[in-house]
Amino acid sequence: MADVMLLRAQKASARSINLSCKKLKRVPKLIGAIQSIIHIDLKGNKLQVLPDELGNLMQVESLNLGNNEFSIIPLCISQLFTLNILHLFQNQLETIPEGVFENLRCLTVLNLNNNLLTKLPKDVCNLVNLEKLSLDNNNLRQLPFEICALSRLKELRITKNRLERLPLEFGFLSRLEELHVPLNRLRELPESLGKCYNLKVLDVAANELRIFPTEMEQLPLVELHCEENPLLSHLPVHSIQEEEVLSLKELAARYVMTELKDRFSSLRAHLKDFPELKRMLAQSSTCAVCSQPFLNTWLECVHFIKPRKLKLKNSTTGNSLEIPIRALLCSYGCFNKKNHEYYGVAFP
Ligand SMILES: [Zn+2]
Repeated sequence: MADVMLLRAQKASARSINLSCKKLKRVPKLIGAIQSIIHIDLKGNKLQVLPDELGNLMQVESLNLGNNEFSIIPLCISQLFTLNILHLFQNQLETIPEGVFENLRCLTVLNLNNNLLTKLPKDVCNLVNLEKLSLDNNNLRQLPFEICALSRLKELRITKNRLERLPLEFGFLSRLEELHVPLNRLRELPESLGKCYNLKVLDVAANELRIFPTEMEQLPLVELHCEENPLLSHLPVHSIQEEEVLSLKELAARYVMTELKDRFSSLRAHLKDFPELKRMLAQSSTCAVCSQPFLNTWLECVHFIKPRKLKLKNSTTGNSLEIPIRALLCSYGCFNKKNHEYYGVAFP
């Protein structure tokens, strides 16, 4: 049956072949001889392997292997250099061997929903043109930081996994527009999320978040979902704290950073001779109260904003009427100042 269809396709130099929902257990090797094929649909069969010959096809742009019985990604896929869209949803994939993604530089859409994946290979970073990655309903506990190299990624879906954190370098995903990570175990979002300047949709519902990153308000969000999280609630208790003693390193760093603000400071000219120092100072933050820079010593505080202040078009926040956002203060001196809306955070 499949052989007849493939023979016909070969004769007609077909550009697409549809063998979906045919209860196939194998794909005839002949498929590898039909060089005209651009689209292959094999979804809804009983496939566990593909013939190596499939890797000979030089023009394939889309391959749908969804709803089959693959427990390993067929290696021949790694030969399909021209592949644009790859569907592998609803299989039994547990791991993806290193090397599979190495040559798939044209891939823009990868759908791995509904599998049993516990991790992603590091070479995911080779998918340099990937725009949409979908990993819903897997068993992922973490993401490799290499995923942050996918600079064209616009949409990332990881609903219902076991993620405990996102990579610290997440902010490198500067084109990301949608992040869907509800139903995970995230306790914190990386501070660098504030660098995802194109993020419009953020769904973090049903996680274990208490607070949002400092630069949350800078994001151009139109949609936020954060219900079912143990978010900090607004308990207006101001406290007065003793001033602390800063380390010499912190004091020196603060002095240098303040000096560097002065256009005429001689320190500016000298800094280029100390690249390590420059790198270190690049990690600095700014006090939410006095706007002065600091390096490693700060107070973690929280302030609350009303969702409507974020100009959201669509949001679900559950019982929280206000969104807790992290703020960093340089000292107890600033914390003790009057007329600010920052509260101390006591993490259990
Ligand atoms: Zn301050």
